[in-house]
Amino acid sequence: MSLKQTEAIVIKSYNLSEADRIVVFFTREFGLVRGVAKGAKRLQSKFGSTLEPFSTVNLEFFQKEERELVSIQSVELLQSRFSIASDPEFLNAFSYLGDLITDFALPHDADEKLYRMIGACLSAGNSSGDLPAIVLYFELWLLRLSGFLPDWSRCESCRQNIDTAAENFVVPGFHLQCSTCRKSYVLSTVRSAELSAFRSILTIPPSEFTTFAADKQESVELLSGIMKRLIAQALGREVAGGASLR
Ligand SMILES: [Zn+2]
Repeated sequence: MSLKQTEAIVIKSYNLSEADRIVVFFTREFGLVRGVAKGAKRLQSKFGSTLEPFSTVNLEFFQKEERELVSIQSVELLQSRFSIASDPEFLNAFSYLGDLITDFALPHDADEKLYRMIGACLSAGNSSGDLPAIVLYFELWLLRLSGFLPDWSRCESCRQNIDTAAENFVVPGFHLQCSTCRKSYVLSTVRSAELSAFRSILTIPPSEFTTFAADKQESVELLSGIMKRLIAQALGREVAGGASLR
């Protein structure tokens, strides 16, 4: 049994027994970690309010070899998001993103890029009200970091660079085809606004993307719809929560 310490973001928690809770963290050093918080439901719990969803904390836990569920030793609050998390729209959006994290991330598989992306999206969600843009940003990057995001810089068929000023077509498999190669059945048509939003997400932080996307709500909605279909295909099922944001 070894004691481990890392910075972490609380994703969600649920009741285990009368006194205890299970808390799901995304940690900087160990990826997704599920742990038992003994006595967390008691009024005088040592955990206090540190286990509120979307808080950033310092986490100490004991891990037994070969055991996925760890024993939470101590949690120190670094940044509370309690006030913003009481906003139903924020809670709805980030609960959906939290579900995606637990669906895509493997337990105890470190992914510091994903850790930083979650923190950046939470901060952007805190300061900007544009939740659909942040949700799209997150969906796209989660797919990219998991290896599911197709390359939209070239046409799947002729391998020419995509002309971002022209109409292009998302085909089954979620690759792009140019108008010359277009097949009879396409999932969606994407225009320059969608293609520039797609490229922006890959190059700028979420706080800047919300500014970029301020006058592109239709494109955000269209792209987010495509990403949800791609997520459903990657997971082999529809994603709960995604629909309620549309
Ligand atoms: Zn082509």
